[in-house]
Amino acid sequence: MAKMYYEQDCDLSKLDGKKIAIIGYGSQGHAHALNLKDSGCDVCVGLRAGSKHAAEAEGHGLTVKTIDEAAEWADIIMILVNDEVAAQVYKEHIAPHLEAGNAVAFAHGFNIRYKQVVVPEDCDVFMAAPKGPGHTVRSQFVNGRGVPCLVAVEQDATGQCKDVALAYIAGIGGARAGIMETTMHDETETDLFGEQCVLMGGLVELMKCGFEVLTEAGYEPENAYFECIHEMKLIVDLINKGGIAAMNYSCSDTAEYGEYVSGPRVLPHEETKARMRAVLSDIQDGSFAGRWIAENKNGRTFFNSKHEQLAQHPAEVVGKQLRESMLWKNDTDLDTASN
Ligand code: NAD
Ligand code: MG
Repeated sequence: MAKMYYEQDCDLSKLDGKKIAIIGYGSQGHAHALNLKDSGCDVCVGLRAGSKHAAEAEGHGLTVKTIDEAAEWADIIMILVNDEVAAQVYKEHIAPHLEAGNAVAFAHGFNIRYKQVVVPEDCDVFMAAPKGPGHTVRSQFVNGRGVPCLVAVEQDATGQCKDVALAYIAGIGGARAGIMETTMHDETETDLFGEQCVLMGGLVELMKCGFEVLTEAGYEPENAYFECIHEMKLIVDLINKGGIAAMNYSCSDTAEYGEYVSGPRVLPHEETKARMRAVLSDIQDGSFAGRWIAENKNGRTFFNSKHEQLAQHPAEVVGKQLRESMLWKNDTDLDTASN
């Protein structure tokens, strides 16, 4: 079982006298910076010169510096730029300013796991990874709650790294919900596996196939969208709340019988697992990461063409029209939309 930490295990005073730079002010960046400031920490935001987020961060009462200035000023540098650019940002703007005893932190392990970022041995490296999008990390904190987080100590030069990491997570509210200990190695591999096989890769293919089979058989696309895409959230919300049994309880016995009879026909258990193991193996041996790093260096031609192709998919086209007329179209919080 993974070790869990809660508020009583975290001592926010471990951040006393420590200057924290949050690099990037996107989804995670704004939430970490604002939550730490509200927790009484000494925070600044490091942004590219001319960043569109500078005025926003200043408007929120935060000090904004260039990334170089922030890295030089800080004891703890949390890198919350896009994972594909983090290695370059680190090399050009952060590494030159590191001093012994500084900590470099991430909210995802990719760049450490695949050695895109190698931090000097006299610095700490930790991960504080909320298991939710940044807007939820902020909104939960403001409501006195928190988003569960993962903690990992990758490099403990000071002997204090774990305490500092736990204090940091307490500062962003994560200790209120629970902190699970892991390694950046495991976090990266399970995260990539989950998103590729189940959450995004698997799910999107499953929904597209279902939509295509119904429409190709002559059913209305609106109908196919509701049955194969829209209802996914209702089903997942039930599972999230009470497990698969609660979902089955809320659906009819006909639906549950069909689940047992047809699920394994669509996704043959052993064959699907063998295919998932092949994906896992590409993740573990670094070949997926290598392809993605190369794709970014080569102008993202594959990524961009797939991205454009998806926008043309009939399920996306009809879905856009249908959502326009739904009641929650103006709900900006994606988590509560359609509740
Ligand atoms: P984001 O896209 O919302 O924000 C990234 C920020 O980096 C933006 O402010 C952008 O302007 C800035 N940026 C982009 N290129 C830059 C460059 N070359 N130089 C300087 N700044 C640059 O990303 P995010 O979702 O906040 O992700 C940040 C980190 O958090 C990633 O490591 C991600 O894996 C991790 N994470 C994200 C989530 C999530 O749900 N969003 C959850 C857990 C962990
Ligand atoms: Mg993830």
